[in-house]
Amino acid sequence: LTPVPSDIAISRNQPPKNIEKLAEEVGILPDELDLYGRKKAKVSLDVLKRLGDVKNGKYVVVAGITPTPLGEGKSTTTIGLVQALGAHLHKNVFACVRQPSQGPTFGIKGGAAGGGYAQVIPMEEFNLHLTGDIHAITAANNLLAAAIDARMFHEATQADDALFNRLCPKNKQGMRVMSEIQLRRLDRLGIKRVEDAEALDPEQRRRFSRLDIDADTITWNRVIDTNDRFLRGIEIGLGPNEKGHTRKAKFDIAVGSELMAILALTTSLADLRERISKIVIGSDKSGQPVTADDVGVTEALTVLMKDTVRPNLMQTLEGTPVFVHAGPFANIAHGQSSILADKVALKLVGDDGFVVTEAGFGADIGMEKFFNIKCRYSGLHPSAVVLVATVRALKMHGGGPAVTAGTPLKPEYTQENLPLLEGGCDSNLRKQIENANKFGVPVIVSVNQFASDTEAELNLVVKKAREHGAFDAVISNHWAQGGAGATDLAKSLVKATEKPNNFKFLYKLDLSLEEKIATIAREIYGADGIELSDLAKQKIETYTKQGFGQLPICMAKTQLSLSHDPSKKGAPTGFILPIRDVSASVGAGFIFPLVGDMTTMPGLNTRPCFFDITIDPVTEVIDGLF
Ligand code: ADP
Repeated sequence: LTPVPSDIAISRNQPPKNIEKLAEEVGILPDELDLYGRKKAKVSLDVLKRLGDVKNGKYVVVAGITPTPLGEGKSTTTIGLVQALGAHLHKNVFACVRQPSQGPTFGIKGGAAGGGYAQVIPMEEFNLHLTGDIHAITAANNLLAAAIDARMFHEATQADDALFNRLCPKNKQGMRVMSEIQLRRLDRLGIKRVEDAEALDPEQRRRFSRLDIDADTITWNRVIDTNDRFLRGIEIGLGPNEKGHTRKAKFDIAVGSELMAILALTTSLADLRERISKIVIGSDKSGQPVTADDVGVTEALTVLMKDTVRPNLMQTLEGTPVFVHAGPFANIAHGQSSILADKVALKLVGDDGFVVTEAGFGADIGMEKFFNIKCRYSGLHPSAVVLVATVRALKMHGGGPAVTAGTPLKPEYTQENLPLLEGGCDSNLRKQIENANKFGVPVIVSVNQFASDTEAELNLVVKKAREHGAFDAVISNHWAQGGAGATDLAKSLVKATEKPNNFKFLYKLDLSLEEKIATIAREIYGADGIELSDLAKQKIETYTKQGFGQLPICMAKTQLSLSHDPSKKGAPTGFILPIRDVSASVGAGFIFPLVGDMTTMPGLNTRPCFFDITIDPVTEVIDGLF
């Protein structure tokens, strides 16, 4: 329809097919499907075993130029592309996308189901609770947080004997039988496993019972999936029964949590448990790392997250399959949907099929982490990168005026302006193509067409993208036309994936942490170097001493610029990247430097999206999501 109706109106007007029918079409057996109503289902990891001998399909990652408030449309392109491949070129396809966080959905950005005629439906289900994975993560995260503070409280208020007697109570036979988690703690302490903990001598009992957590080193925060700026700094333990055991703490957004990153990077339930056990929550008073396993929560957290490992099946507007699974933020976490969804999808589409997965934010963040973190842990290598660009965003990178939400767009963005556009192509687009090429995989620039773009503008982006090293560049109009508008993009992609490629990582893991951070800053962001704060230096020293120096790096940097300064558009040069702090997500498997002013809990602005979200209590029709 012209004009294109609102995202939610389009979504509502296309009834999804029954999810059991879709599952059957894509080769999922009834026993492998766990229904959550008629429009979404979880898919069992047994598919991986059953199809173990099937060759994987082609693997494609969608990334973008540096985002601006004018939007690039990575999700829209991901969905438009699979609609074109599946419904128009008749290939086996799967899209793998992230589950949106309630923070942006009710805050500033809206959901992430795509848009126009390229969407995951039903978009209300997609954008709201889905199958509860984020809630499960929140529950598990906060159980560990509660366990840490309770443990410190009990250690501070109980004598050695009382603490030991409570941790290892006698059973009916008078034996102090320890659980498997407790025996593992003995192993780590180098104390011989005993059948009856009564046999431990007083010194061993003390070492076993006291975690001696140094409260100042705790990095495990409570989480909530709401943009709640007032939880960025809190004081806990103020109730009278906590006997003055207060401490300063903070909340992070749930999708920035280590457990969300773990879900996205895990390869099985056993691996999930293993990664949870390794989570480091802080150090003890002698500087040794304290793990979730030491706190005793490994199994309980795995139980809470048991169902989350199964990918969630939904569909596009044109009835092709989508996995919506895991949703780590791309600025403060690694920003990828799950390895498991990609793996299951690659088996289901088979040798001649395609799996299109999306990396959050700009290629400097999402794509870099996709390659250096996700591909390292999955062992999967993509056959092509699709780099999404829009004329409007490129004009801003070329020096176009700032945009204020809620005010009409300036003429630079609604009328032809080739000089501004060329500026953006020669700066940001050039640099992001270069970034993708550093990984040795062919790059196709997809120009996501907006109604106001002129032919001369669209053609200029295509020409410039080719000049700057893209394998190909294609104008794509899936937002207005659905899959039919993206068939050229799909055809070009098929060609690119037939080319052999020379995939390589940007850095080797055996470089020091500082060298790895500096490599990303120089090569990908275009910085002259990095500057570590004293705190960052000290943390790097601690993590290296604790044996975590081999981990890959997950930069927490603004998505709005290649540099650390969100106001710098284009491709800034001549800057030193400031590293304010460094954390370790040992369970997820990365070191996490905080660049500049990055915060791990977004806030709400004066007029968040929730003002526009409504429900009709009679029909239960929801409006205002986008
Ligand atoms: P990203 O994944 O890059 O954050 P999305 O694909 O979620 O971006 O798109 C953001 C918003 O922009 C959505 O509401 C979508 O409908 C809109 N949008 C995307 N592409 C177009 C287009 N070509 N024309 C108009 N609106 C678009």
